[in-house]
Amino acid sequence: MLNFHDYIKEDFQIPYDLEEDIRDTIDKGFRLLKFPARLEKRYHQDIFPLQQERYLKLGIWAILLYNLFIFTDWFMIRDIYLTAWITRLGICTPLMVFALFMVNSSSLKRFINLLISILIFLVGVSIIFFLTISSHPNVIHYHTGVILVVIFSNIVLRIPFWYAFFTSFVILFVYILAIPHVFQMPVEVMINSSLVIMCAIIITLIGNYRMEKDLRRDYLLTMLQMIDNSKLEDANAKLEKLSLLDPLTGLANRRHFDHRLEQEIRTSMREGNPLSLILLDIDHFKLFNDNYGHPSGDNCLQQIANALKENINRPHDLVARYGGEEFVILLPYTHPDKATKLAEKIRSYVENLGIEHRYSDISSFVTVSLGISGGIIESGQDKAGLLENADKALYQAKLSGRNRVCSFQ
Ligand code: GH3
Ligand code: MG
Ligand code: MG
Repeated sequence: MLNFHDYIKEDFQIPYDLEEDIRDTIDKGFRLLKFPARLEKRYHQDIFPLQQERYLKLGIWAILLYNLFIFTDWFMIRDIYLTAWITRLGICTPLMVFALFMVNSSSLKRFINLLISILIFLVGVSIIFFLTISSHPNVIHYHTGVILVVIFSNIVLRIPFWYAFFTSFVILFVYILAIPHVFQMPVEVMINSSLVIMCAIIITLIGNYRMEKDLRRDYLLTMLQMIDNSKLEDANAKLEKLSLLDPLTGLANRRHFDHRLEQEIRTSMREGNPLSLILLDIDHFKLFNDNYGHPSGDNCLQQIANALKENINRPHDLVARYGGEEFVILLPYTHPDKATKLAEKIRSYVENLGIEHRYSDISSFVTVSLGISGGIIESGQDKAGLLENADKALYQAKLSGRNRVCSFQ
């Protein structure tokens, strides 16, 4: 019944900025049902739909139950029944209907609790008013209505504690002021009925306090859980991304590539679209590494990776570091002829980067060899076959002098 969870909508904005306040408040507790100012404001904003629904549903009941006493007015205070009826039906009921409209339209949101409290006060005072003006002998038993008002507002309608507190005690105060004026009221009954109303107020306020405390705690825990969950989701997403990336070049890693290749082979087979693969290997990279040092080697790998990123930009394409100084480019919806042209463009782009490589016997700059495989994927063709073919083509390129593109025939 008090669960705030059920009221959270999909577009709910998680209050990340209040995390510290929320943790602090959970740790230290909240005295007198008050959160730190910013959190308190947010709490009221979030809790409003819950209050709104309750006020609307129970408001109708309040109107019905209040007017049910029209019948007892006739037996208990027949001398003033017309005044009672006019007050009930002509003043209090329209005010209650008006309040329901205000609640429903969410206008004066900030003052809804005040408005409801004033209304409860008026309803309570209306009963006290009948008590004081009637001269009917039954009137000394009429005070029970005040108890019902208190129970309804504090336990059923559950207006916020401090509103309940002040409204109830102001009603009690008015009652104590008014009761000596009740017709033929014995002092003993006067004391007893005041005491009964006061106890009803205290008991219902205790209940009201506990329920609001539970609701507030539930709110804090729910917010914290939402914050923690979303942080965990973010961390997981980051972790997943990291596990698919090559840390040195920022390209996809082999795991990512293998996964995508399997997917693309299936898609290509199903749709009958061509799929191509380019395997790229840096020429004489061992010599580069041995002579310029490992950090320079890493730097060279990064430059080649950037060159690939520059040249591959269709959304379906994937560039990955396949291992060591080998890269692979997956080109869905691409015929091997097109892939060969692209490979040639990459080859010349890398050569033109002009990364010095004095120890290579084919150029004074870093060069790459590329092997291509692909075509329309037929059933039975698999990942390993495609890679093997690209590797054979690459081997061919190396064998025939490096710094060139070969495609698998
Ligand atoms: P080829 O032209 O036939 O491809 O000769 P190669 O020297 O490029 O090929 P080989 O396989 O003999 O050597 C690859 C070298 O790549 C070995 C290693 O020093 C270097 N290497 C592999 N991974 C990394 C890396 O992460 N960083 C650096 N700096 N070097 C790497
Ligand atoms: Mg190699
Ligand atoms: Mg190499």
